[in-house]
Formats: sequence, C-alpha cells, structure tokens
Amino acid sequence: MGVVDKLGSGVVQLKKGDRVVMPFNIGGGRCRNCEEENTDFCLGANPGFAGAVYGYVVMGPYRGGQAQYLRVSFADFNALKLPAGTEHEADFILLADIFLTGWHGVKISGFQAGEAIAVYIWYSVLGRWA
Ligand SMILES: [Zn+2]
Repeated sequence: MGVVDKLGSGVVQLKKGDRVVMPFNIGGGRCRNCEEENTDFCLGANPGFAGAVYGYVVMGPYRGGQAQYLRVSFADFNALKLPAGTEHEADFILLADIFLTGWHGVKISGFQAGEAIAVYIWYSVLGRWA
C-alpha cells in the first residue's frame, strides 16, 4: 500500500500521487487464468511457471514488497486505486494479502451465506509446519 511516485510508459490508468494497494502475487492480466480470476496462477508474469509473487526466488524476478519503494509490474492490472477521501484508508491494507487469502479460500469452497465453517491456520516456525 502506498502512493504512486513514478510511472512507467505503459501505465495509463494511474497518475502520480494516486494512493494504491496491491496483492503480493502478480498477475499480468492477459492470460486465460487471469481472465478467469485465477491471477495467483498467472501464466504471463513469470514465463514457464504458473504464478508470480514479490520476494520468492522461484516465483519470478520480483524483489520483496516490504520496502520503502516497490516497482509494481503490470501496474494497471495489479494496483487498486483507493477512492479519494477514504476515511478508513488503513482498512485497505487487508486487500494486500490477509483478507484476500481467506476470501479466496471461502470463494472456492462453495460456501453459502448462513453456513458455518472452521478455519485452520498453518504456519511455519523455523521451517517446520505446525
Ligand atoms: Zn495472467
């Protein structure tokens, strides 16, 4: 989440000063998977591999996103421009990772309103999964 500082020549939907948020996975926006809203398996952002993210060696040549500045690839597709005058701007940080991961899981599960679900959280501590 941040403020657009510079624009590449291919960016047409953003301008300097726009406040934006983007997920840590990278979609090119043009492949079949992106068109079917499966951007986590984009076939174009990391050729030869399904999916690209910031900061994972095998997931493309993209440096980590936890930095003062971030070069956003496919910016028109990946950067969500925040509405002007948003009162609770910090809430949009959830769109960068945490909320989207849970939302995606619920969406592909076929969950319907009114149903109950159990959520199990798996995490890695020193390379071991708990
Ligand atoms: Zn794609």
